[in-house]
Amino acid sequence: MSIYGNYINGEWVTKSHQSTFASVSPSDTGDQVGEFSIADEQQVKEAIAAARAAQPSWASTPIQARSEILLKIGLELGERKAEIGKLVSREGGKTLADGVAEVVRASQVFHFFAGETLRCGGEAIPSTRPGIGVLTSREPVGVVGLITPWNFPIAIASWKIAPALAFGNSVVLKPSEETPAIAAELFRVMARAGVPAGVANLVNGPGHITGSALAQGIDALSFTGSVPTGRKLALAASEQMIRIQLELGGKNPLVILDDADLPAAVECALNGAFFSAGQRCTASSRLIVTERVHDQFVDALRTRMRSLNIGHALDKDTHIGPIINQRQLDMIQRYIGVGKSEGAELVEGGQLLERRNPGFYMQPALFISTRNDMRINQEEVFGPFASVIRVKDYDEALSTANDTEFGLSAGICTTSLKYANHFRMHIQSGLAMVNLPTAGLDYHVPLGGVKSSGYGPSEQGKYAADFYTHLKTAYIAN
Ligand code: ADP
Repeated sequence: MSIYGNYINGEWVTKSHQSTFASVSPSDTGDQVGEFSIADEQQVKEAIAAARAAQPSWASTPIQARSEILLKIGLELGERKAEIGKLVSREGGKTLADGVAEVVRASQVFHFFAGETLRCGGEAIPSTRPGIGVLTSREPVGVVGLITPWNFPIAIASWKIAPALAFGNSVVLKPSEETPAIAAELFRVMARAGVPAGVANLVNGPGHITGSALAQGIDALSFTGSVPTGRKLALAASEQMIRIQLELGGKNPLVILDDADLPAAVECALNGAFFSAGQRCTASSRLIVTERVHDQFVDALRTRMRSLNIGHALDKDTHIGPIINQRQLDMIQRYIGVGKSEGAELVEGGQLLERRNPGFYMQPALFISTRNDMRINQEEVFGPFASVIRVKDYDEALSTANDTEFGLSAGICTTSLKYANHFRMHIQSGLAMVNLPTAGLDYHVPLGGVKSSGYGPSEQGKYAADFYTHLKTAYIAN
C-alpha cells in the first residue's frame, strides 16, 4: 500500500525517515484505508512557512477568482458525493446515508462561502467629529491553524477551511489521525479547483506531536475536539496572544414534558442520543422526563431501540455503525460500569456485539433511575449511551438541564408555547431545539457553545467572519 504524504506548498511530501500510521475502518479492522506519514515539528514548521509565504498574494487575489475556486470545490464535492461519502463511511464508521449527507453538507458550505467571499465588506459610519468619515473593513487574520476531530471529518474541515480561504487567509489543517484519508481527498479536490500552492496545507499525525506543533507560529487557531485538548490549546494561544476558537464537548439535555407529542419525542430522543452511534458533540445524553410520562416514554424508547440494526457502516440496512476505535469503545464500556456502580439501572443494551467483520460494535445503552449529579450525567461519554432523569415538572427540568459544566445544545419536547419560549430564553446553551433532536444543524447559521462547550467566536454562517477577519477602523479627514 502506498504511503500518503503531507500536502505542503502544493506538493505531496513524504520523507524517507518519516514514521507512519495506518487508518483502519472501524467497521472492519482488516480493512486498512491507508498509511500516512507523520509530520514532525520540522515539517509542520515548513507547512506554516509555506502558508505564510502564500497568504499575501491569496489575500490580494480578486474576490471573483477566490469565490470561483470555492464554488468549484463545492461543485466537485456535490458531483462526487456518492464516492466520497462512501470513503467517509468506510473510514469514519457512520452509515452510508450519513456519509453522503456529510459530503453534501461540505459542498453546501463551500457554496455558501463562495457567496460570502463577495459579501465580505465593511461599513461607512459618520464620525462624531465634523469633516471626518469612518470606514470599517474586514482584513484576513493571516495563517490559520485548523485542528479537527474524526466525527464529521469532511464537514468540520470544510466549515473551517471555506471561511478561512474566503476571507483571504491561508491554512494548515491537522485532521484527526482516525480520518486522514478523507482529509487527503478534500485536499485533492481543492488543488484541482485551483487553490494555489501554499494556501492550504495538510499535516497528519498524532495530536501531541503534529497538533501541538501546529499551535506555534500561526496567527489564529480553530479547534474542534475534547475539553482537555481545547484547554491546552487555549493556553498555548494566550501565551502567543493569538486568537482562538474552540468547539468542544457537550452533555446535552433533551427535556420531555407531560404535554409532549410522545411518539415525536421518542423519535427525537432516539435520533439525538443514538444515531451516528452518539458520536456527535450535539448528541442528547441526558433525557430529562417529567414523571407523568416517564414510564410510557421509557417503554416506547426501549421498543424503538430494539428495532435498530447495528452493523457495518456500508451495509444498507445499518442504522448505527461502529464506535470509532478500541480506546473509545473501552471508555464507553467503562462508563457502563460507572453507571451501574452509581446505582443507575441499565435497562437496554450496553453489550459488545460481534458482526461478520471484526469491528468496534456495541448495542446502544439506556440507563434509568439516574440522578443528574452522577458521573454518567456530568461527564461526556461520546457514544450510544443515554440516561433518563425523572423530574417533577418543567421548573425542575430546566434547572436540571442547566446543572452541567457544558452548554452546547439543548432540546425540549412540548406542545406548550409558554414552556417552549421560556426554555429557549433560559436554557444555558449555544443551541436550543424545540420539538427537534439536539443534533442536526443547518450550515448557514451560527454554531457555538457556552460554558465549557465553546470559547471564542461562533463558527458557520456570516458570523464566521468574526473569527477569520480583523476589523480595521479607518478615520479619513476631508
Ligand atoms: P477526540 O479524539 O475525542 O475527538 P481530541 O481533543 O483528543 O478529541 O482530538 C481532536 C483533535 O485534536 C485531533 O485532531 C487530535 O489529534 C488533536 N489533538 C489531540 N491532542 C492534541 C494536542 N495536545 N495538541 C494539539 N492537538 C491535539
